[in-house]
Amino acid sequence: MNEAAVRDVEVAVVGAGQAGLSAGYFLHRAGFRPERDFVVLDHSPAPGGAWQYRWPSLTYGKAHRVHDLPGLPLRDADPGRPSAEVVSEYFARYEREFDLRVRRPVDVRAVREDAGGRLRVETDAGVWSARALLNATGTWDRPFVPYYPGQETFLGRQLHTAGYRGAREFAGQHVIVVGGGTSAVQLLMELAEVARTTWVTRRPPVFRTGPFSEDWGRNAVALVDERVRKGLPPQSVVGVTGLAATDAILDAQRRGVLDRLPVFDRITPHGVAWDDGRTLEADTILWATGFRAALDHLAPLRLREPGGGIRMDGTRVAKDPRIHLIGYGPSASTIGANRAGRTAVREIRALLGGPAAQALPGTEGAADARHLAADLPEPVPAA
Ligand SMILES: Cc1cc2nc3c(=O)[nH]c(=O)nc-3n(C[C@H](O)[C@H](O)[C@H](O)COP(=O)(O)OP(=O)(O)OC[C@H]3O[C@@H](n4cnc5c(N)ncnc54)[C@H](O)[C@@H]3O)c2cc1C
Repeated sequence: MNEAAVRDVEVAVVGAGQAGLSAGYFLHRAGFRPERDFVVLDHSPAPGGAWQYRWPSLTYGKAHRVHDLPGLPLRDADPGRPSAEVVSEYFARYEREFDLRVRRPVDVRAVREDAGGRLRVETDAGVWSARALLNATGTWDRPFVPYYPGQETFLGRQLHTAGYRGAREFAGQHVIVVGGGTSAVQLLMELAEVARTTWVTRRPPVFRTGPFSEDWGRNAVALVDERVRKGLPPQSVVGVTGLAATDAILDAQRRGVLDRLPVFDRITPHGVAWDDGRTLEADTILWATGFRAALDHLAPLRLREPGGGIRMDGTRVAKDPRIHLIGYGPSASTIGANRAGRTAVREIRALLGGPAAQALPGTEGAADARHLAADLPEPVPAA
C-alpha cells in the first residue's frame, strides 16, 4: 500500500445506517468537517443502511417503529410502500441535507493500530488514518444460522431471512420456519397465505399483550446493556422485549398459523426429525435465527474478551476509548442508534479536544466549533 495515499482524518465512521448517519450529523454539528475532519465509509451500493436489503413485503407500516434521524423528520411516509424504498430515500435526503459526503461503496477490511498511535483503516479504496473510530456496521452482513446435525444432507432449500424476497416463490411448499423473533412471526403470516408452514422455536415464544410502555423498552435496553458491560455478546433488544400481540398476530394465532413446536434435533435429507421419533418432510427450511454484530474488520485490535463479547462502557469500548460501537447491543434500534451517535460524538470530542484544537485559526471549522461549543442537541424523537 502506498503510504503517501494514506488520508488523515480526526474521526472515521464505518457504516452509514441509522447509527453512522446520526454520528455524522452530530460530528458535523460539533464542527468536524466532512472529508477533512471526518469521513463516513459504507460498503453498500446506495443510501439506506441495511434497510435497502429488507424484503419488499416488509412495508413501512409493518416495520416495528422506525424513528426519525436527528434533525430531519420523515413525514408522510406511505405505510403501504416497502420500508426499503421509504428509508433509503429518506437516508439519501438526509445525507444531502447535512452534507455528510458518505463514501460508497467502500469496504473496510481491517482496522489496526499504526506505529504512531493512530488507527489505520484499511479499505478496498485506500487507507485512512484516524484518531478515533465510530463503528456503525450493524448486523445485516452477519446472518446467523445455528448448526444442527445432518444440516448438510438436506436436499431441499435452506435460506436465512436475509435472503427472503417474498412468499410467492414458496407457493405450494411445506416451509419450516426456525426462530422465535419478530421476523419469524411476520414471515410465517406471509407464507401461510401460499404454503404449508411449521414453526419451531427453542423456547416457547412470549407474546406481550397491552401497549408497549416506555418502561418495558427501558428495561429491555438495560438488560442488554448489563450484558455488554460484562463483556458478553449482546442479545437483540427486540428479543428481550418479547413479541407484540398485534391484531394480525392474534388473528394468525386463532387460525393456528402460530402454533409452535420445539426445535427439531436433527435435519434429514427430506426434512427434520426429533429424538422422540417424530419426523416432518419439508421443501424449505427458513432460518429466522437473527444476526450477529458485523465486527470482523476490528479483529486486529483484539477487543474481544474471553466471554466472546466486547466489554463496553456506554458506547465506548472499555479497553480503548478511541473506539465506539454505535448501533451495537443496547443501541441496536433506530432510537438507540440515534442516541448512541450523539453520546459517542460528545465523548470523542472531549477525547480529541474538538476540531477547533486542530483547525487553523479563522477556518470555518474553528468558527463552527466555537459556535457549537455548547452541549450537543437532543435527537428529535419520532412522533
Ligand atoms: C428485518 C429487520 C427489521 C427491523 N426493524 C426495525 C424497526 O422497525 N425498528 C427499529 O428500531 N429497528 C429495527 N431493526 C433493527 C435495525 O437493524 C436497527 O434499528 C437499525 O436500523 C440498525 O442501524 P445501524 O446503523 O446500526 O445498522 P445498519 O442499518 O445495518 O447499517 C450498517 C451499515 O454499515 C455498512 N457496513 C457493514 N460492514 C461494513 C464494512 N466492513 N465496511 C463498510 N461498511 C460496512 C453496511 O453496508 C450498512 O450500510 C430491524 C432489524 C431487522 C433485521
